[in-house]
Amino acid sequence: MQKVKILYVSLILLIFTNIVSAQVPKPEEVLGFKVGTDRKVADMFQIIDYFTRIDKESDRIVVKEVGKTTMGNPFIVVIITSSQNHKSLEKYRKYQQRLADPRKITDKEAEKIISEGKAIVMVNCSIHASEIGASQMSMELAYDLATKNDKKTRHILDNVILLLVPMHNPDGIQMVVDWYKKNLGTKFEGGRMPWLYHKYVGHDNNRDWYMFTQVESQLTIKVHNAWHPQIIVDMHQMGSRGARLFVPPYVDPYEPNVDPILRQQVAMMGTFIAAELTAEGKAGVIHSSGFDAWTPARAYHHYHGGIRILTEAASVRLATPITIKFEEMSASVKKPSVRMPLPWKGGAWTLRDIVEYDYSAVKAALTNAARLRENWLRNFYRIHKKAITQSGSPYAFIIPSKQRDLSTAIKMMNVLKMGGVEIHKSEASFWADGCEYPEGTYIVYMAQPYGGFAKALLENQEYPEIREYPGAPLKTPYDVVGHTLPLLMGVETVQVEKSFKVKSFLLSRIDKPKGKYVSGNDVFGYVWGHTTNDDIVALNRLLKKGYKVFWSAEKFGIGGTNYRQGTMIIKNKEGLAGDLNSIIKDLYVQFVGLKVKPEIKTYELRLPRLGLYKSWSASMDEGWTRWVLEQYEFQYKSVFNKDIRKGNLNNDFDVILLPDIRESTIMNGIPEGSVPLEYSGGIGEIGVKNIKEFIQNGGALITLNSAAEFAIKRFHLAIENCVQSVDRKSFFVPGSILRVLNDTDHPIAYGYERDTAVFFWRSPVFTVNEGRSVARYPSHSLLSGWLTGEKYLFNKSAIVDVPFGKGKIIIIGFPVQYRAQSHGTFRFLFNSIFYGAAKLEMNKSSFPIHH
Ligand SMILES: [Zn+2]
Repeated sequence: MQKVKILYVSLILLIFTNIVSAQVPKPEEVLGFKVGTDRKVADMFQIIDYFTRIDKESDRIVVKEVGKTTMGNPFIVVIITSSQNHKSLEKYRKYQQRLADPRKITDKEAEKIISEGKAIVMVNCSIHASEIGASQMSMELAYDLATKNDKKTRHILDNVILLLVPMHNPDGIQMVVDWYKKNLGTKFEGGRMPWLYHKYVGHDNNRDWYMFTQVESQLTIKVHNAWHPQIIVDMHQMGSRGARLFVPPYVDPYEPNVDPILRQQVAMMGTFIAAELTAEGKAGVIHSSGFDAWTPARAYHHYHGGIRILTEAASVRLATPITIKFEEMSASVKKPSVRMPLPWKGGAWTLRDIVEYDYSAVKAALTNAARLRENWLRNFYRIHKKAITQSGSPYAFIIPSKQRDLSTAIKMMNVLKMGGVEIHKSEASFWADGCEYPEGTYIVYMAQPYGGFAKALLENQEYPEIREYPGAPLKTPYDVVGHTLPLLMGVETVQVEKSFKVKSFLLSRIDKPKGKYVSGNDVFGYVWGHTTNDDIVALNRLLKKGYKVFWSAEKFGIGGTNYRQGTMIIKNKEGLAGDLNSIIKDLYVQFVGLKVKPEIKTYELRLPRLGLYKSWSASMDEGWTRWVLEQYEFQYKSVFNKDIRKGNLNNDFDVILLPDIRESTIMNGIPEGSVPLEYSGGIGEIGVKNIKEFIQNGGALITLNSAAEFAIKRFHLAIENCVQSVDRKSFFVPGSILRVLNDTDHPIAYGYERDTAVFFWRSPVFTVNEGRSVARYPSHSLLSGWLTGEKYLFNKSAIVDVPFGKGKIIIIGFPVQYRAQSHGTFRFLFNSIFYGAAKLEMNKSSFPIHH
């Protein structure tokens, strides 16, 4: 009887479970079409709607909003595991936290966690919004994991906690789907969108994994740091004519701070996925091809105990199918090879194909994670154990508390802190590597769980010499090769090789000090420095309030203090004291009262009417420029091709800024026929005439990096880009940090020291026969990364100021605002903007005092 009763209850339970899972909606029931159907694609709202419904119906699924995106949309993570595991989710999360910091547990405790814990897998879909397949697949994956009860699915659910991010860039998903639907059925169906699919950074949104400038990066790091996944699948799409799917292993080089255990695990997981897909008959899966693992900008996980499995599926035209004949495919994928034993034969390729390949890749990763659960957890523990017990050199990095730009130094430390790095402060003075450091010095010890992350970002990179054959040019890296934050940000940091001892405490937060305002001597006004980025924000705030502000154009001394060129001088006016007091609350700026007017030449500054050129050939550099300008409180307006073609630019602007866009793109834009008419074309000859008129009438044109070509060619400047036609074998700088020497008497270099580190990437190098060189390259310029052909740089110019009619052309020949990382060179740009709109007052009585 008892037995029958149990059977009966079980039967009821089984029926009940089936009823519950029967209520979990299929994606097609919510979307109205099967995932991956030709010309059908779910947008952000539909995807969120689907996950909200499935969350309600399934006890295996919990949907969480982590925060809001750049444009205010929900950023969600979907946690999928067995209902049993869901009941103890917090316990498993804490297990991860404990394994990630072996200083707090014994090996015995670790073994217990390893036997009980779950493998944590994070799947990031479609960070590049136009690579939309994975975001669509995510719904089908969630449905199957919520409803299937086969042995394999159960095994995954019991052993794995899946953190599924269905849209890594929800704003972008909405934008590309809206654009796609708008053009469906026209000749532009599946074509490019003429703006960035992330408000600021477009395709660069997956190159932000150590600087964390964008909200979406920060939200992902929040999930990552809470859960410490061992496996991260980062799902992308690539071109159409190569392999059908790329998976790791990567090609050389690996960044040297990535643990060798991780590198082997990447290879093991990558080839496991490749084997599973090949076994399913999915042709064209390749590994060990093209993608390297050098820059941490795409691989946060590699420094935090997790493997990054990059998948790159062949693309279609968003959701519009394509046909590729075998003859049209890249030669490298036509024959079987050790990297791809089963080539794809060509033919039709659809969004559904991408969904199925992506689905199989994730299922393979989950299967591997479940089967090898203990291996994943144990190696995760070992990696961190190695990190905390490492005893090699360097022993630490020291960040002196006395900095030229302390605010920026604190920003740098907070970036490290977001990446889990512990920063200490010394409680006494101490000696390290033969130097004495005072109490209050910041210390980053290498023996800590994320010491490798800190080291990668604080040391200078020595990019390895990899050539296909002796005498060949350097193998082109997949991305840039220099990422030394102290150089990029202009922060003094010392690498200490030998161990030292000092009492220090762990900083729970790193705040910047308040600024200073010294009154009592302020009859005339105030002076403040020009050496920090905060100084510039203060300038912007005061100009916006209508104060008269000047830059000294020469050195001067008052009351025993010497002031450099570029010192900022503000004239007193009702309310100034209050405004300065409010500025020093959040900016580290020091205002000093000024009794009398200095008898010096000055630049009279004004709030620049700044125009930032925006091409319909969407430019990430334009987006990064907007981002940086906004962070430092500049006002600007976007200037479009039609505005430039219309002319009369002086009516609206003092300064026009051309971001890093090629001359041909500025001139011609996107060809007619490939986008709707309103987005085609460039500024054309009429635009050149109008910009010329704008400068001759007194306007300033600033060009960034490759846009120099536009100014040099179109305005016939006696300046030559001397590396333009040098081959890669002779001259090659694949994104490195170089040194320049500044002319500190020139307003563009005001506040700088004699030399500065600049980021150099796809940059011109100038021979100057007209205008004034503001920064030039010394004989040894490489600081971090790689450089072939130093002689091409020596004594050549990096920044040029060319007088032109009543105005000027300012050419900055490197990415001055590089991915919002190069804080150390931001002021070259900021100075250029103010200088472009300023008026030089030669009259020494330039400070009329009204009594
Ligand atoms: Zn991508």
